[in-house]
Amino acid sequence: MKPFAYARASGPAEATAQAADNAIFIAGGTNLLDLMKLEVMVPDKLVDINRLDMADIISTDEGGLRIGALVTNSDCAADQRVRNDYPVLARAILAGASGQLRNKATTGGNLCQRTRCYYFYDTAMPCNKRNPGSGCQAMNGFNRIHAILGASDTCIATYPGDMAVAMTALDAQVEIENASGEVRNVPIKDFHLLPGDHPEKDNILDAGDLITAVILPRPVEGNQIYRKVRDRASYAFALCSMAALVKMDGDIIAKVALAFGGLAHKPWRDQAVEALLTGQQPSATLFGKAADQLLAEAKGHGSNDFKIPLTRRVLISVLREATTTGAAA
Ligand code: SF4
Repeated sequence: MKPFAYARASGPAEATAQAADNAIFIAGGTNLLDLMKLEVMVPDKLVDINRLDMADIISTDEGGLRIGALVTNSDCAADQRVRNDYPVLARAILAGASGQLRNKATTGGNLCQRTRCYYFYDTAMPCNKRNPGSGCQAMNGFNRIHAILGASDTCIATYPGDMAVAMTALDAQVEIENASGEVRNVPIKDFHLLPGDHPEKDNILDAGDLITAVILPRPVEGNQIYRKVRDRASYAFALCSMAALVKMDGDIIAKVALAFGGLAHKPWRDQAVEALLTGQQPSATLFGKAADQLLAEAKGHGSNDFKIPLTRRVLISVLREATTTGAAA
């Protein structure tokens, strides 16, 4: 591991002021420390934010929740309000990592975790995300876990998390404070980026930007499901995951929000699919059309070709369950 400076901040202003070029905030460090040991990330300085007052979940005036950036994944998933009103989020969090990691990992850090592309972690291999302009070893290599949607010629990595997939379906907002003390709220669907020509940039954060909270809107009525397909039953990243919020009005789909993990460089939301489903009566034909729409631009790269039919099956299966009154899995 390369030597680095360490500083501890006691407030957001102190933290953002210290975050100059090549300084990184550390909270749980569950992904960052691995990346530093492998010298995939080599920050000059770590700014420890664990003493900041950001570890509470507060009910908002709008009827939602404000989840502080330092709330651990375990505490978020165990919160009674999250379990009752946002079960899709509790289930997504519990589908991720292991109990030990969830005890340490934080809400803000989880959003910033980096891809698990094998070649990104191997400094002997070309990787445009780690070393811009060096090439992409995954493109013609082993790419079982890689993207089928929204990829580019420079990178086909996937965003690995579960929590953000549920938050995307829930239309959460990410609260960010910059070094000037300005606070802005960004819809989570706009927080992570597609790789384009700059796969080195995972999200919209600029140097000194600090995630302070995630804000959930008022709970929505209806069925909430999180489904994760992976190579083993626990402690594995999603090959395909899906968060679904579906409100039925009799036998008509009144409202639907869907988000997918394991398919793209960011949690994937396709509002054309939601529009196609809204106001319709559930049927195998309708669900097939929804899958056609979702996967119209899907592209495999060899080892991950199986994700296209897999995603079709996941979508149809989850929709079938979510449009059944009382579903909650
Ligand atoms: Fe690097 Fe992205 Fe290619 Fe993986 S897919 S090797 S992260 S450029």
